Amino acid sequence: MFSNAEIGIDLGTANTLVYSKNKGIVINEPSVVAIDTVTKKVIAVGNEAKEMVGKTPENIIVIRPLKEGVIADYDTTTEMLRHIIAKASKALGFSLRKPNVAVCTPSGSTSVDRRAIQDAVRNAGAKKVYIIEEPVAAAIGAGMPIDEPVANVVIDFGGGSTEVAIISFGGVVACHTVKIGGDHLDDDIIQFVRKKYNVLIGERTAERIKMEIGYAVAEHEELKMEVRGRDLVNGLPKTITLSSFEIHNAIKEALLQILEAVRATLEDSPAELSGDIVDRGVILTGGGALLKGMEEWLTNVIAVPIALAENPLECVATGAGKSLQYLNKLLTVAN
Ligand code: ADP
Ligand code: MG
Repeated sequence: MFSNAEIGIDLGTANTLVYSKNKGIVINEPSVVAIDTVTKKVIAVGNEAKEMVGKTPENIIVIRPLKEGVIADYDTTTEMLRHIIAKASKALGFSLRKPNVAVCTPSGSTSVDRRAIQDAVRNAGAKKVYIIEEPVAAAIGAGMPIDEPVANVVIDFGGGSTEVAIISFGGVVACHTVKIGGDHLDDDIIQFVRKKYNVLIGERTAERIKMEIGYAVAEHEELKMEVRGRDLVNGLPKTITLSSFEIHNAIKEALLQILEAVRATLEDSPAELSGDIVDRGVILTGGGALLKGMEEWLTNVIAVPIALAENPLECVATGAGKSLQYLNKLLTVAN
């Protein structure tokens, strides 16, 4: 029973998840923290804090402490992890013991970034901290046989960045990261609506637009959506109707940058593995994988079969948690 005090954490730019062997995903909350600027105390973490985005009075600020996959605000990240680890420990019934934690870092992160993540997790109450590379965790979580000598290709399309990696024999053989993720698509939608309609919409509205009528493929049956924002000419609330065609145009540049990373990674593939890729295909993970038409678009443009992971938002956390049990060679212990 003692050894069960082990969890995998996906500390993502958009969402933080915790996986345990016995209970699966026990925490899945946005990586958002609300802070009282006067007392400097944390008021809310996760869902509760995300509800406050764009709606708070002056004495409360809502922070997303990670940007582009790495820690941007160290103290707030540690506070957030403290809440998350405490909540997970309670849910798992090991509140009195410090858990061992496997946490991911993006492949492109520097040693300083990695150290910051390790320290934050340890300071937040972990006993041992193991670091696992994010694409490796994503691939394990997606059920790929990463310890076999075959090409396992994974595209992890997250909130702040997208990582593309080829994994074979338990290690990353090629990898490219772009600092483009779902957040950038939201920004592009905000800019587009501002330019075309002179209306300012909030981040959460932009994200809803992306999820409801955002398409990666140009050819699709048109969808429409009514949204509200602030008219920049007279300052009053205004309702506009958006088309999925115009939203596709607004986000396509960002998607092309992701495509570049995919192409660059496939080009770096060792010749022996290239054939495998065509046979075995590529798995899509991360929340961005859920964008409508994503599989279809990528399959068309790179001419390699693409499949969506079963639970794209959970793969990294699940893979991190599973890595603790079955692949010690992948992990580096930080003491
Ligand atoms: P991270 O690992 O960076 O925390 P996630 O893998 O959790 O990111 O993915 C979060 C991103 O996925 C956000 O930008 C979110 O808007 C996007 N996302 C989630 N669901 C959907 C969906 N159905 N359609 C399009 N984008 C989505
Ligand atoms: Mg992620």
